[in-house]
Amino acid sequence: MAAALMANTLREKAEITLIESKQIGIIGVGEGSTPKMRRLFDKLGIPESIWMPKCNATYKCGIRFPDWSTRKGFKSYYHPFFSSSDDSSVRAFYQNATIRSKSFDVHAHPDSFFVSNFLAKNMRAPLPEQSSNYETDYAYHFDAVGIGQVLKEYSTKLGVTHIEDTVQEVLQGEDGQITAVRSEKVGETKADFFVDCTGFSSQIICKKLNVPFISYKNMLFNDRAVAMPTPLPEDGQLPCQTISKAASSGWIWNIPLKNRFGNGYVYSSDFLDESQAEKELRKYLGTEGSETEARHLKMRVGRLSHCWEKNCLAVGLSQGFIEPLEATALMVVQDTVEIFLENFVRGDLSNTYKDQANEKVNLIFDGIKNYIVTHYKLNSRSDTDYWIANRENENISDELKAIINTWDKGGDLLGELKSQAATQVYSPTSWYCILAGMGRFPRSLKKPKKKFEVYNHKESVHYCEQMMDLFPDHHSAVHNLGNS
Ligand SMILES: Cc1cc2nc3c(=O)[nH]c(=O)nc-3n(C[C@H](O)[C@H](O)[C@H](O)COP(=O)(O)OP(=O)(O)OC[C@H]3O[C@@H](n4cnc5c(N)ncnc54)[C@H](O)[C@@H]3O)c2cc1C
Repeated sequence: MAAALMANTLREKAEITLIESKQIGIIGVGEGSTPKMRRLFDKLGIPESIWMPKCNATYKCGIRFPDWSTRKGFKSYYHPFFSSSDDSSVRAFYQNATIRSKSFDVHAHPDSFFVSNFLAKNMRAPLPEQSSNYETDYAYHFDAVGIGQVLKEYSTKLGVTHIEDTVQEVLQGEDGQITAVRSEKVGETKADFFVDCTGFSSQIICKKLNVPFISYKNMLFNDRAVAMPTPLPEDGQLPCQTISKAASSGWIWNIPLKNRFGNGYVYSSDFLDESQAEKELRKYLGTEGSETEARHLKMRVGRLSHCWEKNCLAVGLSQGFIEPLEATALMVVQDTVEIFLENFVRGDLSNTYKDQANEKVNLIFDGIKNYIVTHYKLNSRSDTDYWIANRENENISDELKAIINTWDKGGDLLGELKSQAATQVYSPTSWYCILAGMGRFPRSLKKPKKKFEVYNHKESVHYCEQMMDLFPDHHSAVHNLGNS
């Protein structure tokens, strides 16, 4: 992604070489995205009909979160992708959620208010009939290896040199700038600027430039994952949502691709060991007796103090990682490269605007972290020490404390979010969805006063159901891609 975006923007201003090691390989997980990925392919001019079939990609309407909350009526909720076409239902949802947060008994479950949830439930592709003028945002599920291949083809066509080799040494000048990398077959490759995309090992940025890493471990306990594919059902149906189900010491993802499901268990090694995690995942998937291999992964969760140091930018896992609960990692890659390019070009390919770029990237990381931490902080499970420890963990940011306090008091959440706009990554709708969807409401509720404008959620459900006629079956839409 970094090479493709840089080649696309810099064109004749730079010669780009990408070195990757077959011996070391890639992490090879990461199958979900945010809507930002649509903007990537739009920018690169690669249509869905070309890239999606090559990556066994499907459409993603949103994420369902079962079992994070034990509160009655709120055992599962859906975090939708939405657009301005949903404005009226968004307002109705805010209205009801606000009234309920002030202890009045009105319906405020997000699932009733978003077309996107009904698309997911009915397995419809988020591609409305053009004549309807309705728009909905969406993202993708895909094979990460396929994406790499598509972007490699794109980049090499734009002149990027691709070398398969293992870098053994990073060379520095007297001023600390990186001057070259030395690799097994090619020897020295000199350059003016280096991009460290070496994954969790951060070969240049941490190991050579000694940029400190700020761990999020005291806020996000999960540091391991175990992944395993399963076949699609034989009934010809193709789901279009990620399921992120809470488990004993973490959560399990289920991602539908065109040719299989990707699954995995993200957990904390402080509470569960590898074999217990694999056993629990297999039990959930029904693969206890199967020979399907499980892949065990370690995760370094946190971020660099800054990703641009001297003449080096770190991108991807080398720059940091927040666990994949909202599938944000590739979005951060895209953001980082775009922010870098904007500032690099503005500074005439110099470091002049480095600090501004670093600050912007850090805000994105910390903003996402706050939203991810919220899932754990709001959980109401008491079945394991893991969930209790997460709920009782006071290592949360002041911004997040203010959001939760405002909500709990039935205060002005929109006002609070507006005052934090500079540090927010997630929209107010996402905040309302998580707070309401987890059932974070007063337990004893009064009858609503007559003067309140309570929205009848049955009208919204009816509207969403009627809208389904505008959307094609997801399985057919995905299988027809590239045929017309
Ligand atoms: C469990 C899990 C689930 C995830 N789920 C999602 C998700 O749903 N959505 C999402 O957006 N992201 C997700 N991610 C993150 C995603 O996998 C990564 O952001 C993405 O794959 C990019 O990784 P990377 O290129 O930074 O690192 P890697 O894939 O590790 O690639 C590192 C590259 O550097 C090369 N390299 C390293 N050292 C050398 C050397 N010495 N010489 C030459 N080459 C070298 C390697 O060969 C490789 O090509 C997930 C991550 C994990 C751990």
